[in-house]
Amino acid sequence: MSAVVFLEHHGNEVQRGSLGVLAKAASLGEGDVAAVVAGEGARALATEAGKFGAARVWVCEDGEVARPLPQPRIDVLAQVVEEGGYDTVLFANSVLAADVAAGLAARLDAGLNWDLVDVALRDGALVGTRPALQDSVYADVGWTSTPRLALFRAGSFDATPTGGGGEPEIVDVSPSYREHSTAVKLVGQDAEESSGPSIEDADVIVAGGRGLGSPDNFTLAEELARALGGAVGATRAVVDAGWYPYSAQIGQTGKTVSPKLYVALGVSGAIQHKVGMQSSGTIVAINKDANAPIFEFSDLGVVGDLHEIVPKLTELVRARKG
Ligand SMILES: Cc1cc2nc3c(=O)[nH]c(=O)nc-3n(C[C@H](O)[C@H](O)[C@H](O)COP(=O)(O)OP(=O)(O)OC[C@H]3O[C@@H](n4cnc5c(N)ncnc54)[C@H](O)[C@@H]3O)c2cc1C
Repeated sequence: MSAVVFLEHHGNEVQRGSLGVLAKAASLGEGDVAAVVAGEGARALATEAGKFGAARVWVCEDGEVARPLPQPRIDVLAQVVEEGGYDTVLFANSVLAADVAAGLAARLDAGLNWDLVDVALRDGALVGTRPALQDSVYADVGWTSTPRLALFRAGSFDATPTGGGGEPEIVDVSPSYREHSTAVKLVGQDAEESSGPSIEDADVIVAGGRGLGSPDNFTLAEELARALGGAVGATRAVVDAGWYPYSAQIGQTGKTVSPKLYVALGVSGAIQHKVGMQSSGTIVAINKDANAPIFEFSDLGVVGDLHEIVPKLTELVRARKG
């Protein structure tokens, strides 16, 4: 296998999801793994990529990739795949990475397996694991041709430095773009102010549902999330009601997450919510209805009024953490 991993970065930070995919690829131990970083400040991130297992980092700081648009990145990646002779290209899911992966598959006439949660080499063949039937079963998936493209679900792998390597070899990419690749112009970009990790990156998510009772009560979820060092998620019901931003929505029409700990506050556990979070490590639910569906797939269920329980829980966590 000769693999290259698309590393997505914003500002001077590489997305943890893509570092996790890189570390996973390196752990397969089948040949050197490379990484591609495209955008402003890409070169400065090469050392970071080395710590997570990249032996070679392809760097592109061209003006066309300064903005987070997929099409110029597809050209960069297509060129890297050709010049480096890679047979495998791996992505961690995000809005941008999904667009790049799909576009690259079309460009290279390659097979893309998406929403994977694991990958392994079996008898020399690369095999992906893909949840199916609303995550009730896991299917083994493969590729019938190269290059093989794979897009992994957020949180599939720990972003743990591999401890190997020294400085990776840096290769500059001088991209040549297709005419249509530079036709899209970004007319505006807004960054949402937030502190703490994003729900895609967080090890802990505290999700709020309609049981919180009002938008103001989201402070209960926020304070518990802050105490646990996590991020706040939301159900579609509260997002539709305008209680919390769409970017926090988890589920079928929102984001799919798999943190180590998922705490659900006043969330009923509708199937459309479940499919977005059921692969979380430990699921804790607080709900006043003992028959709420969420208890069917929770590791720990607390039946009670969240307004009484959550402030005490937050205090306890703070006290424990000193
Ligand atoms: C096509 C489609 C796509 C959808 N996509 C999504 C999606 O992506 N994500 C998503 O989340 N939903 C999605 N939904 C909506 C989904 O079906 C549910 O309506 C939604 O998840 C319910 O949100 P909720 O749990 O916040 O609210 P509810 O179902 O109203 O549940 C509120 C819960 O809070 C509990 N509660 C109330 N008061 C308290 C209290 N004081 N203390 C403790 N517990 C309390 C109640 O017992 C109840 O279980 C989708 C629906 C459709 C049809």
